[in-house]
Amino acid sequence: MKHIEKVFFYFNDLSETQITQIKSLWDVYLDWNDKINVISRKDIEELYIRHVLHSLSIAKFIQFRPGSSVLDLGTGGGFPGIPLAIYFPETNFHLVDGTAKKIRVVNEVVKHVGLENVLATQNRAEELKTKYDFIVTRAVAKMMKLREWSSKLIKTEQTHAMPNGIIALKGGNIGPELKELPKGDFVEKQSIIKYFPESHFEEKYLVYLQM
Ligand code: SAH
Repeated sequence: MKHIEKVFFYFNDLSETQITQIKSLWDVYLDWNDKINVISRKDIEELYIRHVLHSLSIAKFIQFRPGSSVLDLGTGGGFPGIPLAIYFPETNFHLVDGTAKKIRVVNEVVKHVGLENVLATQNRAEELKTKYDFIVTRAVAKMMKLREWSSKLIKTEQTHAMPNGIIALKGGNIGPELKELPKGDFVEKQSIIKYFPESHFEEKYLVYLQM
């Protein structure tokens, strides 16, 4: 459970249940990663920084409200959806991936951790029909593609301090893909290193696109 204390340092308001749930991620991911490689082998040792803390950067940007609904598009092994579902137990999370074996792992994690606010299904983004308050996503597609998929998936009714939209975790040179977005779009780019000054988060960004 290398660096788990960093999660508790940056989030010092967790309940006993949340602490237990975060600890329980270690065994289940280690176990499933041996069977199905959902996280790269090099990365699994760094689960708490590279995956859990990275996912929770979204919780430093926005507080999802009780009863609201959030879609994690292309969740893979459950990121950012699983850590966010632990952090926001009153919010409903739908974790979607096009690959069945990834969803199988996510469902095992959900069961092991005891999450009651997560639904995980195998779907292509293009075929989704339900509407959500927010869409979260990490390392899935360019902003233009995410925007295209999301246009029909975001509720028009607003319930949060900031307008409904997409919150994408991205790395590297994202300037070009942000430039592709239409001029009238409201886009905000935050450096994750601003929340967590660990070197891993250099060149990592949270991009918020209002829909
Ligand atoms: N978000 C995870 C996984 C990123 S890998 C993480 O950051 O760890 C990208 C994932 O997106 C893959 O699991 C892939 O199956 C999924 N994906 C890509 N295009 C998709 C689409 N059109 N619909 C659903 N899932 C998609």
